[in-house]
Amino acid sequence: MSNILFNHVYKTYGKEKKPVVQDFNLSVDNKEFIVFVGPSGCGKSTTLRMIAGLEDISEGEIFINDRKVNDLPPKNRDIAMVFQNYALYPNMSIYENIAFGLRLRKMPKSDIDLAVKRAARVLEIENYLNRKPRQLSGGQRQRVALGRAIVREPQVFLMDEPLSNLDAKLRVQMRTEIIRLQKQLGVTTIYVTHDQTEAMTMGDRIVVMNDGVIQQVDTPERIYNNPVNRFVASFVGSPPMNFIDGSMLTENGKLYFQTRRFALEVPEGKAKGLIAEGYSNKSIVLGIRPENVSVDPIMFEMYPGAVIQGVYKLDELMGADRYLYVDIGTKQDLVVRVNPRNFFQPDEKIRFAVDMNSALFFDAKTSLSVGGS
Ligand code: ADP
Ligand code: MG
Repeated sequence: MSNILFNHVYKTYGKEKKPVVQDFNLSVDNKEFIVFVGPSGCGKSTTLRMIAGLEDISEGEIFINDRKVNDLPPKNRDIAMVFQNYALYPNMSIYENIAFGLRLRKMPKSDIDLAVKRAARVLEIENYLNRKPRQLSGGQRQRVALGRAIVREPQVFLMDEPLSNLDAKLRVQMRTEIIRLQKQLGVTTIYVTHDQTEAMTMGDRIVVMNDGVIQQVDTPERIYNNPVNRFVASFVGSPPMNFIDGSMLTENGKLYFQTRRFALEVPEGKAKGLIAEGYSNKSIVLGIRPENVSVDPIMFEMYPGAVIQGVYKLDELMGADRYLYVDIGTKQDLVVRVNPRNFFQPDEKIRFAVDMNSALFFDAKTSLSVGGS
């Protein structure tokens, strides 16, 4: 059952011609956890606010449980929203903060008490109910904000960068808590973030947006392994995917990706797709993730046609990984993720193999993924 449906939704502010949200189409399943991700200003919050009724819908329709909500006031949409700045009432106790929305609805006191205590137990803030917000840490305050949303038992949770104000460690911890909570409560949730790691770790599905336009709607695995275009490919993954400009060349029945400095043999399966799409002698962009390049000699044997040489420039030791920056004669140094045991001297020549089965190809003009990759 579709819980939230967007049908050709647009948002235009004032007299501006260019919409900040354009032709947004999406069907969110019941109980699904959907993440909207994209760079700052791409229209994530605007889209969320249109669902909540905090912004008018310029064009198109939004349905919640098959009911068109375009003209429905926010309070009748049965939605609870959690923001980045949790906006608690400073003079009220935690208990009163959580109970506030229910009081407004004139729920009986004993029911309110049950709801607040149940939410506090789920969120492990039972011991703080008598405190004031300033007596809590940032993480605890964010939990109170979640508690306020939970007790309303809404049809839909909308969360707009709820973890952005927390420090890194707490952010990671709250990620798992929010997922656990959402699964436990089974409430359809739309979660907005600009952080690709949050999107990848939290979403059942991810909606990648850029410049007001949906780029791809898919599972985290497919977003990572099968991005539809160069924008999506570069937006997820850290360090980001390497892109190398080059062209395709057929020789002795084999297909090669070549630059002025080197050639990489394209595996048969991928080659077929690329040839069928007419890329045999065309310029193209190769995309390869840092973890799909290897300095391990075993890989040289696996990909004898894809071993190239470069000059080591510098590295970043990340603890479990080392990122090498290697000059391969292209515009940008190639970033290679290796085991930290591997150690090189500046300007040392190093050889590495490219896992061409994991390579992606993009049209040089349209930036769309090509060759069935
Ligand atoms: P995101 O949440 O992805 O960072 P927003 O949805 O907040 O992006 O904003 C999308 C675009 O809409 C931005 O370019 C922003 O400047 C513009 N915008 C947001 N609110 C208004 C407004 N009230 N009037 C005009 N432009 C706005
Ligand atoms: Mg925003």
